Amino acid sequence: MREKIVAGNWKMNTSIEEGRQLVEDILAGMDRVPEGVSLIVAPPFTHLFLIAHLLGNRKNPGLAAQNCADKKSGAYTGEVSASMLASVPCGYVILGHSERREYYAETDQTLLEKIKLALSEGLRPIFCVGEVLEDRESNMHFQVISSQLREVLCQLGPEDFKKIIVAYEPVWAIGTGNTATSDQAQEMHAFIRAFLAETFGDLAESTPILYGGSCKPSNARDIFSQPDVDGGLIGGASLKADDFLAIAGSFA
Ligand code: PEP
Repeated sequence: MREKIVAGNWKMNTSIEEGRQLVEDILAGMDRVPEGVSLIVAPPFTHLFLIAHLLGNRKNPGLAAQNCADKKSGAYTGEVSASMLASVPCGYVILGHSERREYYAETDQTLLEKIKLALSEGLRPIFCVGEVLEDRESNMHFQVISSQLREVLCQLGPEDFKKIIVAYEPVWAIGTGNTATSDQAQEMHAFIRAFLAETFGDLAESTPILYGGSCKPSNARDIFSQPDVDGGLIGGASLKADDFLAIAGSFA
């Protein structure tokens, strides 16, 4: 049985007070989360310590950062290292989100550095891959995703790979309201798993692959019902506890 995960990427939203309230509302509704489903919240850096305190010893929800530095420590003004995140403590870090690839010019090489540092600090990376609309329209989407996987995840050893969570997030679906159909999601998730199996064999059977891109309570059930979809990485809808919990409740 693969892990089932619903992770909320808050992006650059919420004040500390709003973030605190959102977590309290999620905690108050945890009875809506089916057994065996893990929630993860990914607030901005400034909120992590407070939210770690609110979560206390609970394993569920887990806590993720939205990024980490590609350097271990030192004179890198404005950066936050993987070891700082581990000391919060955070359990996870989102890496390779398309917004970071596009607006902050993150490359496969930087992402590989970040993933290695995160893993060395005991953090589990949630590694995002996804194609832009042009790639899909020119039928290049499988090639784009294979390249993103080959250059980063396939460079890891099997022990490190076991800790990875993949998020397939078609860029044309993020924040646009244009969700991938459940068939499109299943097709790509199965492709990702098969591609990873070429390097990691049976280990890829256990890799959680989350779908992200305009996932909401009205479409989550259909998407999550697909055999290779193990949950979701949720942006906009994770900012409302009720929607986030409804999405988590969408596993059959
Ligand atoms: C995301 O940015 O990870 C995401 C999935 O956003 P949204 O759900 O808002 O499309």
